[in-house]
Amino acid sequence: MNRERLVSQLTSQSGPFDIAIIGGGATGLGAAVDAASRGHSVVLVEQSDFAKGTSSRSTKLVHGGVRYLKQGNVSLVLEALRERGLLCKNAPHLVHSLPFVIPSYHWWEGPFYGIGLKVYDALAGQLGLEPSRYLTREEIIQQLPTLETEGLDGGVVYHDGQFDDARLAIHLARTAVNHGGVLLNHTRCRGLMKENGHVIGLKAECVETGRQHEIRARCVINATGVFVDDVRRMDDQKAENIVALSQGVHLVLSREFLPGNQAIMIPKTDDGRVLFAVPWHGRVIIGTTDTPVEQASVEPRALPEEIDFLMTHAARYLTRDPRPRDVRSIYAGLRPLVAMKNTESTAALSRDHTVLVSDSGLITITGGKWTTYRRMAEDVIDHAEMIGGIGVKRCVTHDLMIHGSASVLPKDDPLAVYGSDAAEIRDLMREKPALAEKVHPKLELTAAEVVFHTRHEMARTPGDVLARRSRSLLFDAQASMSAAPCVAAIMAVELNWDAETTAHQVERFQKLACGYILEG
Ligand SMILES: Cc1cc2nc3c(=O)[nH]c(=O)nc-3n(C[C@H](O)[C@H](O)[C@H](O)COP(=O)(O)OP(=O)(O)OC[C@H]3O[C@@H](n4cnc5c(N)ncnc54)[C@H](O)[C@@H]3O)c2cc1C
Repeated sequence: MNRERLVSQLTSQSGPFDIAIIGGGATGLGAAVDAASRGHSVVLVEQSDFAKGTSSRSTKLVHGGVRYLKQGNVSLVLEALRERGLLCKNAPHLVHSLPFVIPSYHWWEGPFYGIGLKVYDALAGQLGLEPSRYLTREEIIQQLPTLETEGLDGGVVYHDGQFDDARLAIHLARTAVNHGGVLLNHTRCRGLMKENGHVIGLKAECVETGRQHEIRARCVINATGVFVDDVRRMDDQKAENIVALSQGVHLVLSREFLPGNQAIMIPKTDDGRVLFAVPWHGRVIIGTTDTPVEQASVEPRALPEEIDFLMTHAARYLTRDPRPRDVRSIYAGLRPLVAMKNTESTAALSRDHTVLVSDSGLITITGGKWTTYRRMAEDVIDHAEMIGGIGVKRCVTHDLMIHGSASVLPKDDPLAVYGSDAAEIRDLMREKPALAEKVHPKLELTAAEVVFHTRHEMARTPGDVLARRSRSLLFDAQASMSAAPCVAAIMAVELNWDAETTAHQVERFQKLACGYILEG
């Protein structure tokens, strides 16, 4: 996946594309994969980096959503469980099964959640993971030695999927490019092109060079997450908001707070929220919150009360109370929830996706979740075929293997997330042993990976490498800040940056990384 080659593919395109997509998160990338693999010509523009928005800031679960079952939304759970199974099958290098323990502190909670989880298992059918089962107090203490035991009665264990969200996004981008898609990061949609009231394409600008592109397409899809209303207003200045924003925050702690391979799920905290403590890449993620916010932002920041909620509840359920200096990183994401009038709490808004077609033919897709990205993509491309009159072709993503899936490495292999691409990274290390060096003693990231990210995965800034191609910024924000000069120096050689550009890139990343550090 080479950006220069893709830019020249874009500029040499003679006729209109079948489909143009705005937004390179789970929704837009999924749509690009679906369209390209059906055989349509497709272009995608992303204003920042792939998965820079909500899609790199999730809880990293591929799940049916146990709590939606409680809300009675069986069809949503059924669809998500089916998609969970397909994702485990099609991206085995990036998704795996993880046990979740629900501890019960009241005698009735075990049977209550146990019965619900049997329904959850049954809904998954043939695509189910391991069945749920009851655990005694002793079994829980043995499996989760750092769980608070006071008042502990027993519990239930069930299985869901876990993944690396931004990595899956990169592999989806590569899958789409492998099928002929033209995908460009750091390229912002500035406006729509119209003829006789119909959308016939979009105007885009390369954020790096300022170069303008007029991209013609038979159909344009707006997949911009929490920014969909801004793009809808490029089409119709009077368009009303269709999304409400809900912020979710996560803390990342070191593994000693939750050793072992089981996650903890608290279905109802005392103020009615769901709380997860999940082992992930040798760290523990604690989350999340559900806070209504007014303003969409590419870099949302945790509010003091959200941090306080997570710290207090982590302390309540874990034997060792985390202190601010134990927090390796803190990240916030915004859920684009389809708004319904007269609904006060964002926790009650639908997690279903919505497809809207405007009078001018602009297709907007939003809502849903990472787990259901494939189903959302199928739905929106079905719409695009109708609106764009580009011919109906069969969706093939049900059985489409995601880039890298040809080789599944052991989970503890440091390069496991790259799947079959790991061999290329190892070749780089063999050719030049210095590339096997880590960029920082506290991070697993090697120089060879940075080279690979820049040459083959369209990384253009230290943030692209440290936040999304690798997850260093989430593993240890402070160490990532220190590693930025080393990462930028490697990228400078690959991208021909001069000293001034390199220094500017380092400074920009370090400023951003400050927002992931909890002072105290
Ligand atoms: C806290 C939290 C936890 C979550 N946990 C889970 C989970 O565990 N499992 C799960 O299945 N789901 C989870 N989700 C939901 C899931 O992350 C989202 O549904 C999904 O990532 C949304 O993807 P998207 O592509 O619609 O939006 P985004 O990822 O935000 O992508 C939209 C993209 O559009 C780009 N864009 C905006 N304007 C323009 C423009 N003018 N030109 C070009 N590009 C533009 C943005 O830069 C952005 O990259 C979670 C969400 C949150 C907030």
